[in-house]
Amino acid sequence: MFSQPSVFVKARILPQDPCRQGPQSQKGNQFMTLHIGCHLSASKGYLAMGKTARSIGADTFAFFTRNPRGSRAKAVDMADVEAFRDFWKDPAVPLVAHAPYTLNACSDREEVQDFARETIASDLQRMELIPGNYYNMHPGNHLGQGAEKGCERIADCLNAVLRPEQSTLLLLETMAGKGTEVGRTFEEMADLLSRIRLQDKVGVCLDTCHIWDGGYDIVHNLDGVLAAFDRVIGLDRLKAVHLNDSKNDLGAHKDRHEKIGAGKIGFPALSRVTCHPALRGLPFILETPNELAGYASEIGRLREAWKEG
Ligand code: FE
Ligand code: FE
Ligand code: ZN
Repeated sequence: MFSQPSVFVKARILPQDPCRQGPQSQKGNQFMTLHIGCHLSASKGYLAMGKTARSIGADTFAFFTRNPRGSRAKAVDMADVEAFRDFWKDPAVPLVAHAPYTLNACSDREEVQDFARETIASDLQRMELIPGNYYNMHPGNHLGQGAEKGCERIADCLNAVLRPEQSTLLLLETMAGKGTEVGRTFEEMADLLSRIRLQDKVGVCLDTCHIWDGGYDIVHNLDGVLAAFDRVIGLDRLKAVHLNDSKNDLGAHKDRHEKIGAGKIGFPALSRVTCHPALRGLPFILETPNELAGYASEIGRLREAWKEG
């Protein structure tokens, strides 16, 4: 059986004033672990992902719940699920599954809304096979209806699928503001969150490439950006970080991920993100353009830098 208590009930303890301390004030990192992993292919099942994660020094990972572009989910292999639960015993942090990015819960077309709602509902059901983990989704594209209408439609969708008894936390990802993406500002995210009825079933996943492209300067003012997040959304709602460098300049609204250290954000700034006291204990997920060896080396470098604080 899956070991209890689930990771979901191990609440993260936030420092009183998370933005006051600088990263230099890190003490005792050597007694803790940076929780980090990367996006893995789900094609060979859960156990294969778990083994791959361990082999590259990851203690969490992300995966698509189904084909990222397509719609069909593979039949659940219960033997694989059970083998994975045995292998991935007593996890320190949740896994961060990712919904297909073609879903659009706030489309103006009813059949597209229906498809998003049905897919999310079915994914949330499947997530309960590995209880206590996270399910991250892009809020959607309002397609000219305006962000407010977008938030209203997304909330309608989520209010229809979230269940009080679910152990999975649904995360809404901060977006770069490409096209008509909803979730391009912290204010939009706060508006969206405020419309969800089951508040304890939703949180936020912060994508460093997306917010940089969205105009939040995490290179020169990480403390200020996190303070703004805290003021507008609340750092207690932040449950996971997608750690990516960006091919584009601050405020470009492009969303093109780059390898850690090879983009416009750079290694030192991304390392300050993993070391920031306000983000301590969160799962950090790499979605960088890499093969496994590249991920292993990014994880190794970030762990080294983290130990040094
Ligand atoms: Fe994403
Ligand atoms: Fe992301
Ligand atoms: Zn992205």
